[in-house]
Amino acid sequence: LCVWLLLRHGKGSFRSASRVASVALLAQLILGLYRSRIILMYWPARVSEAMSDPRLLVAKFASMLIGFSMVLLYVWFFVIESQRDLRKSALTDALTGIFNRRALIRESEREIALARRASRPISVIAIDVDLFKSINDRFGHHGGDVALCAVADLLRAGLRRTDLIARLGGEEFACVLPETNISGALHIAEKLRDRLASTPISLPAGTIQITFTAGVAQMIGADANFNSIMERADLALYRGKAAGRNCVVVAEPHGLPTPYHSAVKLTGEGNAASPIRRNSFVRFCRRVLYDDSHHKLPRNYRVTAAPESYA
Ligand code: GH3
Ligand code: MG
Ligand code: MG
Repeated sequence: LCVWLLLRHGKGSFRSASRVASVALLAQLILGLYRSRIILMYWPARVSEAMSDPRLLVAKFASMLIGFSMVLLYVWFFVIESQRDLRKSALTDALTGIFNRRALIRESEREIALARRASRPISVIAIDVDLFKSINDRFGHHGGDVALCAVADLLRAGLRRTDLIARLGGEEFACVLPETNISGALHIAEKLRDRLASTPISLPAGTIQITFTAGVAQMIGADANFNSIMERADLALYRGKAAGRNCVVVAEPHGLPTPYHSAVKLTGEGNAASPIRRNSFVRFCRRVLYDDSHHKLPRNYRVTAAPESYA
């Protein structure tokens, strides 16, 4: 049973140790059978003579050696497990259980290299929880920690398994989305923002509503590495903070220096005679903001006012 368990579950870094342990256990089993056979040869009248049979003595000595090697094998397993735990904790954020900055940089560099080689898009979302200091002030540090875990859970639940999610420090998070262009990343960030803003979070001392501001950037030719994409996403995020928080802003060069939420706010500025349906208008804004081609407003649509920077 032990050999079967070892071979079945001894994968990854445990593979070699499991195989050696299986061989040792099998050798112990064979030696046990051999010793039984010798004793049976003397059974029942001359059992005491069996004890002085040299073959039995050699077999016993071999069993003892294997028994000692089992102790060493146990130490080997222990060392592998400790190394694995150590590696994991060096790459994991202790509070939320998601990647830390170091792990994100390491993993995203690989994804970025793959995307570059295959000429595929890859995007980054930089996230900063809004007015987090006041949450700490109102609900204490523990309350703030619970809120951070809730944000991490929300990101994990809202993204694909292939996306990378990390807490960079404090109340700042980042997500790397392989195979995703800027409009896809914007859509996802907006969905996450909306979900967090509309989900009350239960803290030990009450319920709160929190929001975040995000900047999204897609890798461009000039991006040398993860840090340069992140830098542009961060700049967009700062613009979002300056524009009033709780919004998603697209980084240059894909986005205009107008926060995305301004475009959404334009929904209320359509022609009163033929009101603009929100979803159609948001789609239109995205096309204008993120495509190079010129698009006309659909029939019956008229924008009566627009922020200067957007116009
Ligand atoms: P803004 O919307 O401009 O981002 O405002 P803010 O209050 O979120 O930003 P600020 O950088 O002023 O505050 C961040 C706060 O996050 C300050 C710090 O006390 C808190 N913080 C950092 N790390 C942790 C943590 O691990 N747990 C908790 N509970 N709070 C943390
Ligand atoms: Mg911050
Ligand atoms: Mg903040």
